[in-house]
Amino acid sequence: MKTLPALPALLLAVLAEAPGVAAPVPTTRAASLSADAWHCLRMKGTERPFSGAFWDQHEPGVYRCGDCRTVLFDSKHKFDSGTGWPSFDRPAASASVRLVADRSYGMVRTEVQCARCGGHLGHVFDDGPATTGQRYCINSASLVFVPDSLRPEPPRPGKGKGRS
Ligand code: FE
Repeated sequence: MKTLPALPALLLAVLAEAPGVAAPVPTTRAASLSADAWHCLRMKGTERPFSGAFWDQHEPGVYRCGDCRTVLFDSKHKFDSGTGWPSFDRPAASASVRLVADRSYGMVRTEVQCARCGGHLGHVFDDGPATTGQRYCINSASLVFVPDSLRPEPPRPGKGKGRS
Protein backbone atom coordinates (compact mmCIF):
# COMPACT_ATOMS: atom_id res chain seq x y z
CA MET A 1 0.00 0.00 0.00
CA LYS A 2 1.25 3.42 -0.93
CA THR A 3 1.87 5.75 2.02
CA LEU A 4 1.12 9.44 1.94
CA PRO A 5 4.07 11.79 1.93
CA ALA A 6 4.73 13.74 5.13
CA LEU A 7 3.42 17.29 5.19
CA PRO A 8 6.18 19.85 4.74
CA ALA A 9 7.20 21.59 7.93
CA LEU A 10 6.06 24.97 6.59
CA LEU A 11 2.53 23.66 5.95
CA LEU A 12 2.43 22.15 9.42
CA ALA A 13 3.47 25.50 10.88
CA VAL A 14 0.74 27.33 8.92
CA LEU A 15 -1.89 24.81 10.05
CA ALA A 16 -0.76 25.20 13.65
CA GLU A 17 -1.30 28.97 13.46
CA ALA A 18 -4.66 28.83 11.62
CA PRO A 19 -7.64 29.67 13.85
CA GLY A 20 -9.91 26.74 14.55
CA VAL A 21 -7.43 24.22 13.20
CA ALA A 22 -5.81 22.00 15.78
CA ALA A 23 -2.10 21.57 15.48
CA PRO A 24 -1.17 18.07 14.36
CA VAL A 25 -0.19 15.88 17.28
CA PRO A 26 3.33 14.64 16.69
CA THR A 27 3.58 10.88 16.76
CA THR A 28 7.33 10.56 16.66
CA ARG A 29 9.92 12.16 18.86
CA ALA A 30 11.30 15.42 17.55
CA ALA A 31 15.04 15.28 17.03
CA SER A 32 15.41 18.32 19.28
CA LEU A 33 14.00 16.48 22.32
CA SER A 34 15.84 13.88 24.36
CA ALA A 35 14.01 10.63 25.08
CA ASP A 36 13.39 11.77 28.68
CA ALA A 37 12.09 15.18 27.55
CA TRP A 38 9.81 13.53 25.01
CA HIS A 39 8.50 11.10 27.64
CA CYS A 40 7.63 13.92 30.07
CA LEU A 41 6.64 16.78 27.76
CA ARG A 42 4.75 14.93 25.04
CA MET A 43 3.71 11.63 26.63
CA LYS A 44 2.78 13.16 30.02
CA GLY A 45 5.32 10.95 31.73
CA THR A 46 6.87 11.39 35.16
CA GLU A 47 10.56 10.97 35.85
CA ARG A 48 11.63 8.93 38.86
CA PRO A 49 12.15 11.02 42.02
CA PHE A 50 15.73 12.04 42.79
CA SER A 51 16.71 11.08 39.22
CA GLY A 52 16.40 14.39 37.36
CA ALA A 53 18.98 17.09 36.78
CA PHE A 54 17.37 19.84 38.87
CA TRP A 55 15.78 18.47 42.03
CA ASP A 56 18.89 19.37 44.07
CA GLN A 57 20.06 22.37 42.06
CA HIS A 58 20.39 25.70 43.87
CA GLU A 59 22.12 27.89 41.29
CA PRO A 60 20.36 31.17 40.47
CA GLY A 61 18.75 31.30 37.05
CA VAL A 62 15.58 30.60 35.12
CA TYR A 63 13.98 27.35 34.01
CA ARG A 64 12.64 27.35 30.47
CA CYS A 65 10.37 24.91 28.68
CA GLY A 66 12.43 22.03 27.35
CA ASP A 67 10.69 22.36 23.99
CA CYS A 68 9.59 25.93 23.15
CA ARG A 69 12.00 27.64 25.61
CA THR A 70 9.37 29.83 27.29
CA VAL A 71 10.55 31.02 30.72
CA LEU A 72 8.46 28.98 33.17
CA PHE A 73 10.08 29.14 36.60
CA ASP A 74 12.64 31.22 38.47
CA SER A 75 15.18 29.83 40.92
CA LYS A 76 14.12 32.42 43.49
CA HIS A 77 10.78 30.58 43.79
CA LYS A 78 12.38 27.12 44.08
CA PHE A 79 12.34 25.30 47.39
CA ASP A 80 13.43 21.94 48.72
CA SER A 81 10.24 19.88 49.01
CA GLY A 82 12.05 16.65 49.83
CA THR A 83 10.08 14.90 47.07
CA GLY A 84 12.96 14.44 44.62
CA TRP A 85 11.39 16.68 41.99
CA PRO A 86 12.17 20.35 41.34
CA SER A 87 9.57 22.31 43.32
CA PHE A 88 8.49 25.92 43.01
CA ASP A 89 5.95 27.94 44.98
CA ARG A 90 4.81 29.78 41.84
CA PRO A 91 5.51 30.04 38.10
CA ALA A 92 7.69 32.85 36.75
CA ALA A 93 4.46 34.43 35.43
CA SER A 94 0.92 33.14 35.78
CA ALA A 95 0.45 33.37 32.01
CA SER A 96 3.42 31.12 31.33
CA VAL A 97 1.66 27.98 32.54
CA ARG A 98 -1.78 26.46 32.00
CA LEU A 99 -3.53 24.44 34.71
CA VAL A 100 -5.66 21.50 33.59
CA ALA A 101 -7.75 19.04 35.62
CA ASP A 102 -6.16 15.58 35.50
CA ARG A 103 -8.20 12.53 36.57
CA SER A 104 -5.75 9.90 35.36
CA TYR A 105 -4.61 6.94 37.51
CA GLY A 106 -7.68 7.25 39.75
CA MET A 107 -6.47 10.54 41.21
CA VAL A 108 -7.78 14.09 40.97
CA ARG A 109 -4.82 16.35 40.33
CA THR A 110 -4.04 19.60 38.58
CA GLU A 111 -1.68 19.22 35.66
CA VAL A 112 0.75 22.01 34.84
CA GLN A 113 1.39 22.60 31.14
CA CYS A 114 3.53 25.06 29.25
CA ALA A 115 0.99 27.67 28.11
CA ARG A 116 2.76 28.18 24.82
CA CYS A 117 3.38 24.66 23.51
CA GLY A 118 1.17 22.54 25.77
CA GLY A 119 4.09 20.49 27.02
CA HIS A 120 3.42 18.51 30.20
CA LEU A 121 5.49 19.89 33.07
CA GLY A 122 4.12 18.19 36.19
CA HIS A 123 1.39 18.89 38.74
CA VAL A 124 0.59 21.57 41.32
CA PHE A 125 -0.51 20.75 44.85
CA ASP A 126 -1.87 22.80 47.74
CA ASP A 127 0.76 21.67 50.27
CA GLY A 128 3.46 24.20 49.41
CA PRO A 129 5.28 26.62 51.68
CA ALA A 130 3.53 29.48 53.45
CA THR A 131 4.58 31.99 50.79
CA THR A 132 1.86 30.82 48.38
CA GLY A 133 0.72 27.45 49.72
CA GLN A 134 1.43 26.01 46.28
CA ARG A 135 3.88 23.28 45.29
CA TYR A 136 4.59 23.11 41.59
CA CYS A 137 6.09 19.62 41.29
CA ILE A 138 7.89 19.64 37.96
CA ASN A 139 9.89 17.13 35.95
CA SER A 140 13.49 18.14 35.40
CA ALA A 141 13.28 16.58 31.94
CA SER A 142 10.57 19.07 30.95
CA LEU A 143 12.91 21.99 31.68
CA VAL A 144 16.15 23.52 30.55
CA PHE A 145 18.07 25.69 33.00
CA VAL A 146 19.68 28.99 32.07
CA PRO A 147 21.97 30.23 34.86
CA ASP A 148 22.06 33.93 35.62
CA SER A 149 25.74 33.90 34.70
CA LEU A 150 24.71 33.31 31.06
CA ARG A 151 21.98 35.94 30.98
CA PRO A 152 22.84 39.27 29.42
CA GLU A 153 23.39 42.03 31.93
CA PRO A 154 20.61 44.62 32.04
CA PRO A 155 21.68 48.06 30.89
CA ARG A 156 23.18 50.14 33.67
CA PRO A 157 21.42 53.35 34.67
CA GLY A 158 22.73 56.17 32.56
CA LYS A 159 24.16 53.88 29.88
CA GLY A 160 20.96 52.88 28.02
CA LYS A 161 18.95 54.63 25.37
CA GLY A 162 15.79 56.58 26.01
CA ARG A 163 16.85 58.53 29.06
CA SER A 164 14.98 61.74 29.65
FE1 FE B 1 6.69 24.97 25.87
